[in-house]
Amino acid sequence: MAKISPLQIYKFLPGTNCLECGESSCMAFASALIERKKKIDACVPLMEKKEYAEKKEKLIDLLTPPVKEITIGNVVIGGEEVMYRHDLTYFNPTAFFIDVDDSMPRESLIEKVEKVRNFKITRIGQELTLDGIAIRSKTDDPTKFGETVLSIYENYYMPFILCSYNPEILEVGLEIAAERKPLLYAATRDNWEAVADLALKHGCPVVASSPGDIQGLADLVQNLSDNGIKDIVLDIGSYPGGKQFYEMNENLAILRRLAIEEREKLFGYPILGVPMVAWMKEKDAVKATMKEATLAAVQLLRYCDALILHSPETWSLLPLLTLRQNIYTDPRVPISVEAGARVIGSPDENSPVLLTSNFALTYYTVEGDLQSSKVSCYLLVVDTEGLAVEVAMAGNKLTAAGVKEALEEAKLLEKVNHKKLIIPGRAARISGEIEEETGWEVIVGPIDSSRIGGFLEEKWGV
Ligand code: SF4
Repeated sequence: MAKISPLQIYKFLPGTNCLECGESSCMAFASALIERKKKIDACVPLMEKKEYAEKKEKLIDLLTPPVKEITIGNVVIGGEEVMYRHDLTYFNPTAFFIDVDDSMPRESLIEKVEKVRNFKITRIGQELTLDGIAIRSKTDDPTKFGETVLSIYENYYMPFILCSYNPEILEVGLEIAAERKPLLYAATRDNWEAVADLALKHGCPVVASSPGDIQGLADLVQNLSDNGIKDIVLDIGSYPGGKQFYEMNENLAILRRLAIEEREKLFGYPILGVPMVAWMKEKDAVKATMKEATLAAVQLLRYCDALILHSPETWSLLPLLTLRQNIYTDPRVPISVEAGARVIGSPDENSPVLLTSNFALTYYTVEGDLQSSKVSCYLLVVDTEGLAVEVAMAGNKLTAAGVKEALEEAKLLEKVNHKKLIIPGRAARISGEIEEETGWEVIVGPIDSSRIGGFLEEKWGV
């Protein structure tokens, strides 16, 4: 389906520009709805006046995302509107759940859950974390499962998934933790009636699982919906290799295409991937971790809205978290940092002044290279509207006038006793213009900031 335009939405708004929604016009409100910056109920006349009842209904229908949003604990998954990120943006990042099971000794269990809770990597100024725990019944013993759920439930406030095909086991977990609204994994064609009863009784979302069988999945979802289940997550199976891997790949794309392009309601739900199946047959932990990470990356790219992983190792999670961060960054808004002068180390009046753009990736790379070179300096961040130096040059966003303004605002002349500015190698073309405009002597730095340490040593003697 094509992206919804503000005009399509505007048709269903009152069109009186009364400003009650806090926007400057009905058209501005339409744009805010598309961006999900405002909710429909902010238009009070539409919600309350009888004359708009029909429009309201049509607008709600138009705005409902083809992939339903589902909440697990406090994590929201799904809610996507487009097949391809650049058609609009993706909204809710794929949630990463790490699995533990009821055969684990308590000490190892707590150690792993602690690791998940404390996992944090900062990249481009954003904190990358894990989302929750998947508690799996490996023993098929209700008592053991109950003990495991209880020890996590009592000590950690994290979203979780209860995993068993045995409804009696799921029930034990729900008796302890239902109020946290865990996701139930899973209803199958054999157990769906009992699992549906549990999901209804406790108001929890449920996974419909039909590995490798799209028609079977449709039938299962139909049965669950007919029995009043509204919050469903789809599982079409996870396979780390062989012919089934290729089929899985296709099936995942088919599910999302049917939901978004065909608006097929039976498939209009988030998708779950279970890359931890890579551990089922592989005895070598390193190989299993690598296979799991590979499968997870494929499922992440193929529209999976939640993943159950086994390995909590940083070396396998970092590429996945990086991939997730890249995919779920809004392509319409460059990631930027605030402009202004930054202090690196303990600079004094003789310290160098360097310049960079406010594109987040550029800034954090340059800042990291300066920190690791252990040079004390001032880093002047110029507002290039979030563009990298080369792109900003091409788009006229890094200009001599802009540099002058940044220098004046940062009041660097009150901090240093020289007028020497080191600019990125990629901005060499405007070095003369900057000198003329600012009166500062310009030194053209290296193209690659990883060479900044050696450059400063040679040119500045630091
Ligand atoms: S409250 Fe509704 S009618 Fe009023 S300006 Fe906003 S969108 Fe238009």
